[in-house]
Amino acid sequence: TSVPDMLEEVADRFSFQMRKKQIRAAIRVEDGITSVWLDRDQIDQVLDNLVSNAIKYTLDGGRIEITAHKPGSTSIAISVKDTGIGIPRKDLSRIFDRFYRVDKARSRNMGGTGLGLSIAREIVKAHGGTVTLDSELNEGTTVTVILPMLQDGGDPS
Ligand code: ATP
Ligand code: MG
Repeated sequence: TSVPDMLEEVADRFSFQMRKKQIRAAIRVEDGITSVWLDRDQIDQVLDNLVSNAIKYTLDGGRIEITAHKPGSTSIAISVKDTGIGIPRKDLSRIFDRFYRVDKARSRNMGGTGLGLSIAREIVKAHGGTVTLDSELNEGTTVTVILPMLQDGGDPS
């Protein structure tokens, strides 16, 4: 899979929703990251979850950044960062639980089940990776997925 293409394509899938909220997306890929071997369908599902959250929980006119870098020679990190409403500190430890949603009042009108992040983490774990979330209330949220790189280059799929 071409990492730059994968990130462009996830942004494209949400371009309508972003335009509706006047949210701008930026994509940054560190030099030297081209093609990696990964389960494209499953990782797309993870990225769709993270980008849909970033849009859903960011006010009109906000910004989203989707970035890729190499934290080491055998792994790749993909981050989705938003300038959204953030998550209260007290909720951070439960945010990956199934069906957990921060305060029903704020998510009532948003739609969704509270499964997105737990599914994303299951998928990433199954691939030997990790998901971490960093958030500041009223400032924004960054979710970072780190995946082992099984094979660099090779047959892109
Ligand atoms: P679903 O993903 O099933 O449509 P959901 O988005 O509510 O529903 P999760 O993706 O699991 O569920 O997220 C759980 C909760 O974490 C959300 O309800 C929301 O309160 C909070 N959350 C997740 N991502 C963000 C974010 N980027 N900014 C602020 N809050 C977030
Ligand atoms: Mg979600």
